[in-house]
Amino acid sequence: MTTTHNLGFPRIGAKRELKKALEAYWKQEIAQPALLTVGRELRQRHWQQQADAGIEWLPVGDFSWYDQVLDLSCLLGVVPERFNHSEGPVSLDTYFRMARGRAPTGEPSAACEMTKWFDTNYHYQVPEFSSQQGFELSSDKLFNEVDEAIQLGHKTKPVILGPLSYLWLGKTKGGDFNKLDLIDKLLPAYGEILNRLQSQGVEWLQIDEPILALELPIEWQQAFESVYTRLPVKGLKTMLAVYFGPLKENLKLACSLPTDALHIDAVRGADEIDTVLSWLPIYKTLSLGIIDGRNIWRSDLDALLEWLQPLQQRLGDRLWLAPSCSLLHVPVDLEQEQQLDSEVRNWLAFAVQKLNELNTIKQSLDNIDEGDEQALLISRQAVESRRTSTRIHKPNVKQRCHNITAAMAERKSTFEVRIQKQQARLKLPLLPTTTIGSFPQTQEIRLARKQYKSGQLSEAEYQILMRKEIDEVIKKQEKIGIDVLVHGEPERNDMVEYFGEQLEGFVFSQFGWVQSYGSRCVKPPIIYGDVSREKPMTVAWSRYAQSKTEKPMKGMLTGPVTILNWSFVRDDQPRAITCQQIALALRDEVCDLEAAGIAIIQIDEAALREGLPLRTREWEKYLAWSVNAFKITASGVKDETQIHTHMCYSAFNDIMPAIAAMDADVITIETSRSDMELLEAFEEFSYPNDIGPGVYDIHSPNVPAVESITSLMNKALVHIPVERLWINPDCGLKTRGWPEVNTALVNMVCAAVFLRSRYKRSRAS
Ligand code: GLN
Ligand code: ZN
Repeated sequence: MTTTHNLGFPRIGAKRELKKALEAYWKQEIAQPALLTVGRELRQRHWQQQADAGIEWLPVGDFSWYDQVLDLSCLLGVVPERFNHSEGPVSLDTYFRMARGRAPTGEPSAACEMTKWFDTNYHYQVPEFSSQQGFELSSDKLFNEVDEAIQLGHKTKPVILGPLSYLWLGKTKGGDFNKLDLIDKLLPAYGEILNRLQSQGVEWLQIDEPILALELPIEWQQAFESVYTRLPVKGLKTMLAVYFGPLKENLKLACSLPTDALHIDAVRGADEIDTVLSWLPIYKTLSLGIIDGRNIWRSDLDALLEWLQPLQQRLGDRLWLAPSCSLLHVPVDLEQEQQLDSEVRNWLAFAVQKLNELNTIKQSLDNIDEGDEQALLISRQAVESRRTSTRIHKPNVKQRCHNITAAMAERKSTFEVRIQKQQARLKLPLLPTTTIGSFPQTQEIRLARKQYKSGQLSEAEYQILMRKEIDEVIKKQEKIGIDVLVHGEPERNDMVEYFGEQLEGFVFSQFGWVQSYGSRCVKPPIIYGDVSREKPMTVAWSRYAQSKTEKPMKGMLTGPVTILNWSFVRDDQPRAITCQQIALALRDEVCDLEAAGIAIIQIDEAALREGLPLRTREWEKYLAWSVNAFKITASGVKDETQIHTHMCYSAFNDIMPAIAAMDADVITIETSRSDMELLEAFEEFSYPNDIGPGVYDIHSPNVPAVESITSLMNKALVHIPVERLWINPDCGLKTRGWPEVNTALVNMVCAAVFLRSRYKRSRAS
């Protein structure tokens, strides 16, 4: 008999109940007991849904009020000093203060850092270790939830992040020391956790070590053996779980560690299964993550069965089946999507449906239930319909991709030639000022968009309102004295959704929310088919805006890589091809903007870095096709048209050559939070084109003073010639309020005027 289990279930709730309860609690609209009730109900419902889907071993410990890594920090008592936690259990409010800097009770303090969870769009709370870090169990949450699940009669398999992944994901604070040295102190704490779980009657424990899918330094690799040999597991059966990729050079190690079972990602690591079979000790159970936990497509069950049957014959009871990773990264339940195009809906599977698929596979492998013939049949039809649908496959799009030439990804002349012609056309002053695109999205703007969408506002009425807004932001920018203007993006809800809604090949779910961090969720568009553009998407707005000013008006687009990386992408062709299709659609938009008289066009690539593969050895390949897609988008224009790009992160020292290869005429980037450190990398690499280092941190309500802007620019001027520098904020201003934006931009222009006078003087002298 084949055993099924799950690695984790989305906790936010099908209707985002957890988000709503959390935010109400933070605003003190509900008290803590009410919040606790919502959590308990969600856990109960989610276990029931998994049990109803036929899953045997249910995860516990996957529920979290904010983040599972933060949960573990609290369990281990890793609470930085500034949160004033002395001893005993970490209170829920201390927990929230660690996550977000404040909570209904207690003094505010700087929140813990947050960063991306491997290559997902989920963000975890980074543990902070001091050199004297101790570990002392300081939370009952996990143990209580285990009791809760057992009492509900579920077969309970707690899930915990393993000690090495936990250390790896943390950062050291105060003093230079090797965090791996903390392992000797950490292990006894894990021992205590295991002991307690065992005394609660737990049989199986899942220990996640996702870092085994990364390229690890040798000392970390070696640590695995000693750590897992020393981990006191007495009485518990342990499953080591690795996901998000193949194990490659860590495969042998993972097979040989003294655990009772090994879970591997059989979607991304499908090629490794044969090797695993030959290396896996005969006493070990193998869990195959066969259902993709990273996307929303139905699986091809026939193909899976064909693949699994021989494996099952070989492994017998030692074969377990699961999704490839926690289902945290997919929406909860497709059942809710009653407005979704029914043909496309039929191709999809959210968390609940994925578990049903898993069960169908199990039943068929074990020949239990004839009833599953029905499920198989439906699945087979869906897979077949997706394979052949003319809604997906557009010969003209495929043909166009096929015809892409190398020349299409190159501008006509070099940057040196282009910038001369652009300067002759634009006549911009030294150190030109600009903004990144959006202006504050006021209540009125949001309301107008909403009413337009629901039909309460006619097209004409909506146009009038938006144009009025554009008129106003133009007047404001002219008054402040900004050199290159933007129209403010009032018509855009979201930088990806806005384009996805106008492109062919996309659909949008109503409730397809996925947790990004804490109570924040995103609803990624679904790219199901060949992408094409029916008609211009932004040209009318930009043309209108340009007609209202003598100054250059920047056209504003989201780039192909960002659209790709922030969507659920079809899995029936390489991502690179889908990206190319988006690039071609956007290229047409760029050319249309140029034809409409727009002299500067910004193509945002906010998420280019996010798409980097987990292993650096694979970066080059990704960067090659993603940079190429950007260049296809950008290179249809003449030399006189200036292409900008924008990226809102500063950690790109390691991909600098790729960024330079994008060959944008101007790049605007985040730097104010890293105090221009980044620019040193630009110096080392000698970035060839124009740069606008962000001088206004738009993530904070603080208004930068003129002096702080000039001092940041002076730092930039050490590395970059004055002729190649721009002055601009870090990112779009849509989350800010007008009063602060106004003052900040006035200060920015003031700083520009001051610097210009100084530089002219110093040149003359
Ligand atoms: N043009 C977009 C804006 O200003 C860019 C947003 C982003 O980089 N995240 O809102
Ligand atoms: Zn940005």
